[in-house]
Amino acid sequence: MSKIEILNEVKTFLARKHGHFIAGKSYVDEHEARIDIINPATEECIATVADGSEASVALAAQSAHESFKNVWSKITPYERSLKLNKLADLVEANADELAQLETLSAGKLITIAQHLEVAQTIIFLRHFASCATKIEGKTIQPSLPSMQGEQYTAFTVRQPIGVVAGIVPWNFSLMIGAWKIGSALSTGCTIVVKPSEFTTLSVLRLAELAIEAGIPEGVINVVTGLGKTGQYLIDSPLIKKVSFTGSVSTGIRIGQQAMQNDLKRVSLELGGKNAAALLSDVNIDEILPVLIQSTFVHQGQVCAAPERIFVHQSKYDEFVAKASAVLASMPMGSPLDASNVFGPLSNKPHYEKVKHYLNLAREKGQIISGGEAVEGTGYFVKPALIKVDDCKDPLFIEETFGPLISVIPFEDEDSLVTMMNDSRFGLAASVWSNDMSKVFRLIPQIDAGSVWINMHTFLDPAVPFGGMKASGIGREFSDAYIDDYTELKSVMIRF
Ligand code: NAD
Repeated sequence: MSKIEILNEVKTFLARKHGHFIAGKSYVDEHEARIDIINPATEECIATVADGSEASVALAAQSAHESFKNVWSKITPYERSLKLNKLADLVEANADELAQLETLSAGKLITIAQHLEVAQTIIFLRHFASCATKIEGKTIQPSLPSMQGEQYTAFTVRQPIGVVAGIVPWNFSLMIGAWKIGSALSTGCTIVVKPSEFTTLSVLRLAELAIEAGIPEGVINVVTGLGKTGQYLIDSPLIKKVSFTGSVSTGIRIGQQAMQNDLKRVSLELGGKNAAALLSDVNIDEILPVLIQSTFVHQGQVCAAPERIFVHQSKYDEFVAKASAVLASMPMGSPLDASNVFGPLSNKPHYEKVKHYLNLAREKGQIISGGEAVEGTGYFVKPALIKVDDCKDPLFIEETFGPLISVIPFEDEDSLVTMMNDSRFGLAASVWSNDMSKVFRLIPQIDAGSVWINMHTFLDPAVPFGGMKASGIGREFSDAYIDDYTELKSVMIRF
């Protein structure tokens, strides 16, 4: 056991009465109901946050609107870039505190919180900072006929869309919150973030650091609360765009609500039922450590992680035997203990959902290994390997977002592609093989926004990310996000 000590600043932060973060400071409305933030490893309430009312949302939207009009849209791209970089510096300086907040509220292993979530938050903020000075339009030569010697020219400009609502899920609150903040601020927009009701704290702390970084008050606001708070945000006439990351069902509702609000712009980063395909030449011993790590990072609660594993029939038995052995040997326990590689699920409703899928599999005798809920305190279940016989099995269709992978053999590449694409989702997929001519023939046939080769679940700020089919609308990162946060204005000139 090497459990880390909770920092004094974390204890002090948890003990506060948390409000929303509006116009640069905490705003507490004593009439609002409170939501308990539960540590999923201990089931203890570590803090409470407000369930934001329509009135609080209106204040936050107003603050973001005024900052957009009077301050943020007026400063130079270079200044926006400097301030985002300064925020990244402060995330770095406060990395341990932010990591502990994530671990305590999301059950994320402290090593993952430090080396993945907080570290990536810094890298992504710096990427968005670098994009601020690279937002461009183009010049166009129109073909209009000249009657009396007049000439024409045209150009396009990208203008910030205004106030963005960033609605964030519970699995990587800080990092996904920073994706929304970085995208908005780099393009000259201001933002109201609504973090998940389960993991609200790190985003509240990030908003405080933004003030310390010199980002003017009102540029970043945070309203806390349940789904209803998110709905108030979408309905606010001051919100010009909704950037949502979460489940498909919520995403579809949000898309409909945004359309009903005079076609409010919306981008949706939704769930997946991602496939990993292991071709016949694969060396199971070589790939297994990488595949297992990519699959079970944060207990499999990662939108891009693989849930459907297709193994060439010649390697199926070997894969099942070796993967079962690895899963059974994963040390599980407190996420504050750096020697563990598996922690609890992040919240009770999700724990119940995952147990439901495991019970379905158990009743039908499909569990090959693992899958038991651990007796005692905390939302712990053992990682599971499940066999499925055909692609119509619910375990092969529905996103579980948990530590269970379903495995099926395949005979040839044609049937592989048919099975991989037999899904409403299209977020991510991977192919594992050194036979590059097969790999390059497969890549264009796979319905997924991201395809990894001999790797899975790796996101990089320079590489666009987003889903096909029901996995979403729009792309994040690279410079692909810029179109979604700006309006394209065409200017034509006669001279
Ligand atoms: P969720 O859809 O339940 O909630 C996401 C957020 O939306 C929360 O803040 C929630 O309070 C809010 N919300 C809920 N109902 C709302 C409504 N009607 N209007 C406005 N806001 C509402 O998702 P979750 O359980 O928090 O997260 C897990 C899901 O997120 C999984 O499906 C996962 O695949 C997906 N996800 C996708 C990505 C991606 O980049 N594609 C990344 C992480 C997670």
